[in-house]
Amino acid sequence: MGKPMEETYQCYQLLKSLSSKFDSIVQNILRWTDKTFKYKNILLELVAEETRIDFRDDLSLQRSQHEMFSMQKSKIKCHHCGKFGHFRRECRNGSTTASSSAGVSKLRPATA
Ligand SMILES: [Zn+2]
Repeated sequence: MGKPMEETYQCYQLLKSLSSKFDSIVQNILRWTDKTFKYKNILLELVAEETRIDFRDDLSLQRSQHEMFSMQKSKIKCHHCGKFGHFRRECRNGSTTASSSAGVSKLRPATA
């Protein structure tokens, strides 16, 4: 028979059974019109959302790895100035290149 009401009921059962990570997409789906609100469409949307969620998880994993790296970096000691938190090549306290540019950067008269 397949009354439309039954399909809607199945849809709600499906949406209710989802874990909390689908909360945002469930809110979206509930705003769909009756024409779009079909069991098949919802499944497709959920599969797509699951892919997006996995992708986001990957991104947050990369971010935490980056944070770990930053933490480790704060333990690095610069061999040039002896301070922590940067490599020698990133050192801003170095004076190896400072003298060569002295005198070149004269103040230019302000042009209107
Ligand atoms: Zn340094």
